[in-house]
Amino acid sequence: MQVPAPFVYERATSVQDALALLAKHGPDARLVAGGHSLLPMMKLRFADPAALIDINSIDGLDQISVADGIMTIGAMVTHAQLLASDVVAQHFPMLTEAERVIADPVVRNKGTVGGSLCQADPAEDLSAALGALRASVTTIGSGGSRSIPVRELHDGPYQTVLDENEMVTEVTVPLPSGSSSSAYEKLERRVGDWAIAASGVSVSVADGVISEIGIGLAAVEAPNMVAADAEDAARGQVPSAELIERIGELAAEATDPNTDQRGPADYKRHLAGELTKRALRRALTNAGALTNEGAL
Ligand SMILES: Cc1cc2nc3c(=O)[nH]c(=O)nc-3n(C[C@H](O)[C@H](O)[C@H](O)COP(=O)(O)OP(=O)(O)OC[C@H]3O[C@@H](n4cnc5c(N)ncnc54)[C@H](O)[C@@H]3O)c2cc1C
Repeated sequence: MQVPAPFVYERATSVQDALALLAKHGPDARLVAGGHSLLPMMKLRFADPAALIDINSIDGLDQISVADGIMTIGAMVTHAQLLASDVVAQHFPMLTEAERVIADPVVRNKGTVGGSLCQADPAEDLSAALGALRASVTTIGSGGSRSIPVRELHDGPYQTVLDENEMVTEVTVPLPSGSSSSAYEKLERRVGDWAIAASGVSVSVADGVISEIGIGLAAVEAPNMVAADAEDAARGQVPSAELIERIGELAAEATDPNTDQRGPADYKRHLAGELTKRALRRALTNAGALTNEGAL
């Protein structure tokens, strides 16, 4: 049986209390939210924190709200909450679609948005989806509060740019403007598994052209988990079958996947392109910008 190394357990009652406990226990302390990523890593001895600071008793971090053109998602909102939210489905269908294929109900009931982003797993679906949506995390640390774009949160696999004494309190997502929609496409070996490859596309259309677009990629080693060149190439263009084809090619070119038990690198690169095309086509169709989807 795999068991973690001994550790001290503390339960934080407020954000300030969590920060104080992080400071008290020093660099070997870690926050624990749902525990679905951290605890397995501790059992495998890939993580060996001397102290765990449990943030589940902190009030107010598990709300989803919309105000002034921004959706705010608390760091302790669970995958299950996000999946069940009508307001999320209304504004960001990509998030609902991504949540449907993240893990299984057991993980979704406890795993949190903040934990998912801070785990910084390169195959993490929410990091790709929220990166596509140009979300930011709000953090509080010893130096005060700051906002970090999700696209800049990861500092390599399983590493974030957060300081030791800093925690994410919420995620903010700008509501899309004009005719807009989003879609998430993921291929997995079996239900509940991590992605072989996944792509999430958010698109807004104004005056007949793509006014804004975000393309997030999971499990294919794209820089910052996005296809920035593909986004630049799509902006200002009239939606068409040819454009979708080109954007898919550029998304594939943004990747540098590894060959592993989920498949060879070339296959994953091909998937990144194909899944991006499918997600873009669906997002454009749902935004009312492609009326002849069958011809594509
Ligand atoms: C069987 C299984 C299948 C899975 N399948 C998928 C999948 O298909 N797709 C997918 O995307 N994910 C998948 N996951 C990952 C799952 O989504 C994450 O494990 C989980 O949501 C992470 O959230 P958590 O709250 O459990 O984080 P925890 O395990 O509690 O924490 C993870 C890390 O984040 C840090 N942390 C947590 N909260 C904060 C905070 N507020 N501020 C700063 N740091 C914080 C912790 O210190 C730790 O380093 C799977 C997990 C399992 C166990």
